[in-house]
Amino acid sequence: MTYRENINILIKRLRRIQLFSLFLVLLGFVLTVAVLNVYESDQWYSKVIILIGIIGEYYCWAKVRQIKCPQCGKSLGYLLFDPSYSKTNGAIHLPKELPCDIHCCAYCKASFDDEMDG
Ligand SMILES: [Zn+2]
Repeated sequence: MTYRENINILIKRLRRIQLFSLFLVLLGFVLTVAVLNVYESDQWYSKVIILIGIIGEYYCWAKVRQIKCPQCGKSLGYLLFDPSYSKTNGAIHLPKELPCDIHCCAYCKASFDDEMDG
């Protein structure tokens, strides 16, 4: 397995969590607005839904920040967060995979497409 394949598996998993979290935040807001208009009462559960969504988003963000070059250990999170690399706004919506036009680490030039040991 190459490093790229390894990372893409992680990205795929985080992306699912992130989309679900985003859905929860939106759902929470919709509930807050819709229900407040009807009942004008304190809707604690919509706040809980939003909070869970925000925690999920934060978890994804923290996990992506931990993605490091296997060779030099420098963070590669910018490849996913920076829209000029990832082509999406990674902090809100992760790309599907490690950008395919990036082939090696910007710091040590270790290739992402070499087979990993073990
Ligand atoms: Zn490196």
